[in-house]
Amino acid sequence: MTMVLHLGLLVSMLAAGSSADPGPYIRIDRLTPRVALAYWPGLDRRCNLTVIQSQKGLVLIDTEAAPRLMAPIKKKIEQTLGRSDWAYVINTHAHDNHCSGNVLFPGAVIVGHENLAADMQWLIRRQAEPHKRGEIDRYNAILRDLRAAGPRYAGNPQYSRLIQSDLIFYELFVQDLQEGYEVVPPALTFADTHTLDLGDLTLELIFFGKGHSTSDILIYVPQERVLVTGAIAYGPYRVPEIGEASHLEDVHRFIAVLDRLLADEVKIDHVIPGHSAPLTRAALPPIRDFYRRMLTEVRAARRQGLTLEETTKRLTLRAMFPAFRDPPARTYGHDHQARNVRNLWRILAENEPKPQPDPAKP
Ligand SMILES: [Zn+2]
Repeated sequence: MTMVLHLGLLVSMLAAGSSADPGPYIRIDRLTPRVALAYWPGLDRRCNLTVIQSQKGLVLIDTEAAPRLMAPIKKKIEQTLGRSDWAYVINTHAHDNHCSGNVLFPGAVIVGHENLAADMQWLIRRQAEPHKRGEIDRYNAILRDLRAAGPRYAGNPQYSRLIQSDLIFYELFVQDLQEGYEVVPPALTFADTHTLDLGDLTLELIFFGKGHSTSDILIYVPQERVLVTGAIAYGPYRVPEIGEASHLEDVHRFIAVLDRLLADEVKIDHVIPGHSAPLTRAALPPIRDFYRRMLTEVRAARRQGLTLEETTKRLTLRAMFPAFRDPPARTYGHDHQARNVRNLWRILAENEPKPQPDPAKP
């Protein structure tokens, strides 16, 4: 009888997600001899954390959405690699699942772009009222939906496992939002590029420009032929971004950075996106070509006297950029192409005044 009660309690605890061990859900995938990807799979929220093993210590690129989420991933990395000598933690940008677990690496140097600390301020604001209550409600609603979906997918072990994984993930996330956590800014920053010498490896850090965020960087590891892109190559078919903070110099920088990485002497086998399975070098030319063609086409549309609305209709992904697809409504990136056209239109209007009709012409 006692046994039955204990089992019943265990089953209900697992169903609720609480007290369950996240360890079995977390993946550490070897990519090259010295580079691995750590991630915690869910229904729709993969975030790649890149682990680099060097003579000078371990390097982690990105630190998930909260310390309680980073902790079991860190533990699994250390168990898998048999070492915990963290030397550097690099944040590709300041969106939450890329830099919220920094506090767990007190002995490592946190590295990021010089805009990163300011860009991280929203994580502090989010933990204060009135934002905090709204955020907690939002994630509690996700938890309710997941619990309701559980029984419906009881016959699908793969899907049930992802729901279970998500339940544990979001419960820990809500706990961190409720209790608050320390947001740790970078101790080492750079403006344009920076090289980290790790003994047997070098990491080349490159500012991409203000687009997806204001602090986006890429990290190239020449010895392993690996390029970590954060959200620059977000995932397959994901349209690149021109943001509200982007200026003309940023759009030119996007193209210049990608041109440099696509030079013959730069060897890249693995492109690590922020949020999908690894890609290859082939993911990069369409992104570079997207920015080039957007510049050409929006300039042409303005010269032809088209309105912003007409230009947006002309420059759809389907018509002009078939390498990319619009993600479903209510997911990140939906309708970003209209936003890209709007932002580039604004940028060109600021920098390249529309040619006025010549009054002397008959
Ligand atoms: Zn992001």
